[in-house]
Parts: sequence; C-alpha cells; structure tokens
Amino acid sequence: MLERGEVANSWRRERWDSLRLLTPSWQSRLPGLRYEGPEPDGYMTSGEVTEFIERFAKVSSAPVRTGETVTSVRCTDDGYHVTTSLGEIGCQAVVIASGACNEPAVPQFRDAVPASVEQRTPFDYRDPASLPDGGVLVVGASATGVQLAAELQRSGRPVTLSVGEHVRLPRTYRGRDVLWWMDASGVWDQRHDELEDLSRARRLPSPQLVGTPERATLDLNALTALGIELVGRWAAVRDGRALFSGGLRNALSLADLKMDRLLDTFDEWATTDGRAAGVDPVERFERTRIPESTRLQLDLRSGEIRSVVWATGFHPDYSWLQVPVVDEKGQLRHDGGVVESPGLYALGLPVLRRRKSTFICGIEDDAREVINHLAGHLAGHRPGR
Ligand SMILES: Cc1cc2nc3c(=O)[nH]c(=O)nc-3n(C[C@H](O)[C@H](O)[C@H](O)COP(=O)(O)OP(=O)(O)OC[C@H]3O[C@@H](n4cnc5c(N)ncnc54)[C@H](O)[C@@H]3O)c2cc1C
Repeated sequence: MLERGEVANSWRRERWDSLRLLTPSWQSRLPGLRYEGPEPDGYMTSGEVTEFIERFAKVSSAPVRTGETVTSVRCTDDGYHVTTSLGEIGCQAVVIASGACNEPAVPQFRDAVPASVEQRTPFDYRDPASLPDGGVLVVGASATGVQLAAELQRSGRPVTLSVGEHVRLPRTYRGRDVLWWMDASGVWDQRHDELEDLSRARRLPSPQLVGTPERATLDLNALTALGIELVGRWAAVRDGRALFSGGLRNALSLADLKMDRLLDTFDEWATTDGRAAGVDPVERFERTRIPESTRLQLDLRSGEIRSVVWATGFHPDYSWLQVPVVDEKGQLRHDGGVVESPGLYALGLPVLRRRKSTFICGIEDDAREVINHLAGHLAGHRPGR
C-alpha cells in the first residue's frame, strides 16, 4: 500500500478545523474495528477519525509505505509498471484507492472574480479568523457549504449563500438519526447495477447535514433563521458582477419534494413486520421558506463581499494514471470498481457498488467483492462481476 503522506492523510491535511463527521460514530466501522467510545450517537472530529484510521492500520497490519507518491502507472505485457517517488514496481494488479475528493472542483469563472475579493476552497479554509472581516459569499449548499456558511455567519461575517441543486435531510427523523434510517431501511445498500440512473446517483451532492452534539438540523430554513441571505446558483461573472440563476425557487421545491419521497420510503419500510415499534410517529417538515425577493446579481467590487468560499464539490486526481480509463469529465470508467483495463481496480468512489460506497461504513462490502474479482484475475479465472 503506497501513501504519499501519512495514514489518514486526507483527514489530517484536507479538512477545516471544526469539521465533524456527519455520520454517527456507531456507523464508523471498518473490517474488524468498530467505534467503542462513550458516545456512539455522537459525531467524530477530524482528529478522532485520524486516530480511528491509524488504529485500523495497526489492527489490520496493513503493509503501508508512507511518504511514497505514485507518479505514474502504465500497462505492461503482464500487468502494470508503477513509478513512485522512491522507485519502480512491477505488478499484476493495481487497486486505485486514491480517493474521490483529491481536489476542490471550482468553476473556471473564479479567474474573473476581482482581486480585491479573497477566495478559499475547503482545502485552504481553516476557520473564520483566516478570512477578512466583512461579507462572505459561500458557493454551494451541500454539506460543506451549509456548515461553513453557518460558522461564518456566527462569526459576525454577513453570509450570502449561493444555492444550486442540493439534498435536504433532517438530522433526526421519527426519533432516530436520519442515517440510521438510510442504513436500516436498506436505501444505503441499493446496488449500483439496480439503480435506474447510475450516473446521476454518482453525481448527487452530499446531504445538508452537520454532526453536532445537539443533533441540530442544518437546512436552509435554519440558515435563513441565522440571517443568511440565499441567492440562486452562481452562473457567471460579468464586469466584476456575480450573476445568479433565477431558478432558486425550483431548486428549493425540488429538494423538499425529494426529501419527502425519501421519508415516504422510510415510512413504508417501517410499516412492514412491526418495524415501527421502536420509532416515533411519522413526521413531515416545514417547506423551505422561499425568500420574498432574491438578488440576481451582486457587485463584487462594491466592498460588500470581501471573500468567496467555494463549496462546489471535489474531484479525483488521476494525472498519474497513464492508462486510458479516464473519461472526458475526469472520472474513472469502471463497472463496480472493475476498471476497463484487466487487473486494474478501484475502491472508495461514489456509488461504486452501493449508495454507501464513499462513506467509511461502505468500504467493507465493496472491498470484499472487488477483492474477490481481483483474486479471480490473479488466479487466471475469466472474470464475472
Ligand atoms: C469534507 C468531507 C467530509 C466527509 N465526511 C464524511 C463523513 O461524515 N462520514 C463518512 O463516512 N465519510 C465522509 N467523507 C468521505 C470520506 O472521505 C471517506 O469516508 C474516506 O475518507 C475515504 O477514504 P479513501 O481512503 O477512499 O480516500 P481518502 O481519504 O481521500 O484517501 C486517499 C489517500 O490516497 C492518497 N493518495 C492520493 N493520490 C496518491 C498518489 N498519487 N500516490 C500515493 N498516495 C496517494 C492520499 O494522500 C490519501 O491519503 C467525507 C469526505 C469529505 C471530503
């Protein structure tokens, strides 16, 4: 196992200070290792996640070589040739587990933002104090965007939040963590080859969730109650002005509709075989309040906005992979982690085999199946799935 940094590198280097997992601690399970701390219903800090993964590396005796960067992987007649910062390796098979979130995805028009406005991504944002005083435009209303918008508004910086497509979820539903429902109802176990629109499922943004001791819901109603202003999706910059889409109302209604559909799925599951016994009665939540009027543009030279935080998602980095298996959007072409080139495999990508694939609790089932395939490949079997 080659790791360019240290074990749990992304949790050490690529997270902001206040981040906690949005998955409850009891859900942090890796093969042979479970959370056994005092607060199974709490949410781990980045430091605790780092310790958990370090412990797993020890418990599993994983043969990790840290401080070794893979700089190229090429096909050979009988497998792959891997070049690293420390040497050369020949091998029959390669598992790409380099992560789905190696770089922040930021629109090109960031270059047109006036230089007087500071820009940050989740990789270089640490805490509110690292931004200048004054207004902040947070772009993106998924997990990262809603968490940073709330933290910045509470720090006294007036926040405007640019909202595109998003996934609204309550923190708790019928007395249980909403991710308990995802797990128990089987939604998270839905398989990649059974989904109607797999590429859409793979592009779905992260849910609007935050892990706090109060188990608070952090939806857009909670943010507007804090005083945050909502605007539509940021579409372009023209003459120093940020131009926003007029589709905010639709984006809000669609997210409400989808949340209700998911809650219906949970309710249906709960009515079978007396499963509703341990949960509270059915709940429905207030619609997202539509702002009376929304601004369609904002002058970035006026001084109102002093910084922009791009919470517009992440993408993987395969610049080191010299095998033609990456599509024009920079995503790996694979079927359930079996990459188009024999002997090449992937783990840890969105909906790789199941909806839960990119979560810590999702790796065990995926890894077992992918490694079975890999073992068959090494044994010279004709591959199935
Ligand atoms: C902001 C954020 C919040 C998240 N919150 C949660 C959560 O609440 N709950 C949850 O279950 N999951 C969460 N996740 C998903 C989380 O990242 C995964 O659960 C888990 O960390 C993925 O592990 P991984 O090993 O697949 O990828 P990563 O953690 O990204 O690890 C990939 C490793 O590969 C190394 N690497 C990359 N390229 C090379 C190279 N060329 N050579 C050598 N090494 C290389 C990197 O240094 C890194 O250590 C979150 C992700 C993000 C980005």
